[in-house]
Amino acid sequence: MDLSYSAEYEAFRAEVRGFLEVHRNQAPGHGGNGLTWQKLLIENGYAARTIPKEYGGFGAEPDILKSRIIAEEFARAQLSPGLGGQGISMLVPTLLEVGSEDQKRQFIGPTLRGEMLWCQGYSEPNAGSDLAALATKGVLEGDEWVINGQKIWTSTAHLAHWIFCLVRTEPDAPKHEGISFLLFDMKTPGIEIRPLVDMTGAANFNEVFFTDVRVPAHQIVG
Ligand SMILES: Cc1cc2nc3c(=O)[nH]c(=O)nc-3n(C[C@H](O)[C@H](O)[C@H](O)COP(=O)(O)OP(=O)(O)OC[C@H]3O[C@@H](n4cnc5c(N)ncnc54)[C@H](O)[C@@H]3O)c2cc1C
Repeated sequence: MDLSYSAEYEAFRAEVRGFLEVHRNQAPGHGGNGLTWQKLLIENGYAARTIPKEYGGFGAEPDILKSRIIAEEFARAQLSPGLGGQGISMLVPTLLEVGSEDQKRQFIGPTLRGEMLWCQGYSEPNAGSDLAALATKGVLEGDEWVINGQKIWTSTAHLAHWIFCLVRTEPDAPKHEGISFLLFDMKTPGIEIRPLVDMTGAANFNEVFFTDVRVPAHQIVG
């Protein structure tokens, strides 16, 4: 079996290597900043590579060998492969799969570019591994969801602009059903963030309390 890369892939590797040599001084830690670097990587297809152009990605066809080569070359050059985080790794794929067209257009681009930071509101004091025990409630009143309850272990809630949050919206359904995925602004009235200080003294996790938080009905996903 021949495991060597074909000429096409070797040419692609040379292209990535050339890009990194030319743009090295624009990378974070080498004189550049993370947001500008991310924009440059997306424009050149080294981040958000297969996400459609109309949603702010590069729009390439999936090619696992090219993705592998990009990862290898960025690691070899010891340069940042671009932004990650919960918005990019968890929310964007969800929206691509089940988001409405408006949600895709509103959220994917700014999230990919690092302009919109997200936190993940799943875990609760009595709903960790057993996520189906989650009790945070969302009740539809007119064209708004009214949310009450508590989340815990919410990483970066104190930095995030928006949250993607699991909320029980159908209390009479079996407990593993009747849960909805809502998106809302962390500045919405009724949200209180309390830091959790860990044994290192850092406070990257939080408890997040919701008291009559009103979320427009269309901000439900799927
Ligand atoms: C670094 C970090 C960041 C996190 N960030 C977030 C975040 O941003 N947003 C968020 O929503 N959550 C976050 N979490 C929470 C995480 O994803 C889990 O939901 C949570 O840690 C598990 O719940 P718990 O801590 O209540 O533990 P439990 O679910 O109570 O589990 C406690 C122990 O019991 C065991 N156990 C549980 N159920 C069973 C069973 N049926 N049989 C046998 N053993 C069992 C578990 O393995 C574990 O050892 C984060 C966690 C970590 C560690």
